[in-house]
Amino acid sequence: MKCIGLIGGMSWNSSAEYYAHINTLVSERLGGLHSARVILYSMEFDEIERAQRENRWDDMAAALADAGKALKCAGSDFLLICTNTMHKVADEVANGSGLPLLHIADATGQAIRKAGIKTVGLLGTRFTMFEPFCRERLEKFDLNVLVPGPEDADTVDRIIFEELCQSRFETASKQICVEIIGRMVEQGAEGIILGCTELPLLIKPDDVDVPLFDTTRLHAEAAVDMALSE
Ligand code: GLU
Repeated sequence: MKCIGLIGGMSWNSSAEYYAHINTLVSERLGGLHSARVILYSMEFDEIERAQRENRWDDMAAALADAGKALKCAGSDFLLICTNTMHKVADEVANGSGLPLLHIADATGQAIRKAGIKTVGLLGTRFTMFEPFCRERLEKFDLNVLVPGPEDADTVDRIIFEELCQSRFETASKQICVEIIGRMVEQGAEGIILGCTELPLLIKPDDVDVPLFDTTRLHAEAAVDMALSE
């Protein structure tokens, strides 16, 4: 079994989900006492979030590439960045670490295509929704990707940083997100990408009438496929 290197801590709430998903999937597939070979390098999220606000993406690329190098030295065979947003520096992290990187948008795009969906709504941080690094990669899977209007996008971004990344899961915020999803469905979204690795902690499949694409889970599944491949 290959060893999975996780660059996490962004936030730690979702990294814990990655660890649980990966081990659950390995256990389901191999049975018995089997568990995943995983190494987690957990970043200090306050430093990362400040750098995001100050637009210091070169600094973040260097910090994540260093984490990737440490994971390589420790024995990881490939890397996952456990956040959609930080895929903005995915190429720099792959090149700097010298390890293959499993991209979250590829895992997500494949699952959506398999589900036969063409038009999908994307929820995430303002970076993920409005910058091209995830959206354009998803569009390569022949998808039409919708994002919320500016006011709804600000609301989702605020809920992510002020609540979910600080381990606060409020029923009122869930309701607001469900309403935002409803507006995207009215605009033609046949499914919704939970394109922030904390959003699946708030929004569950039963909360809405369209399929949800949980990027944390899909990324973890792709990691297990790769870890168990020849
Ligand atoms: N985990 C979140 C994401 O998937 C947001 C935290 C971050 O800014 O990296 O985008």
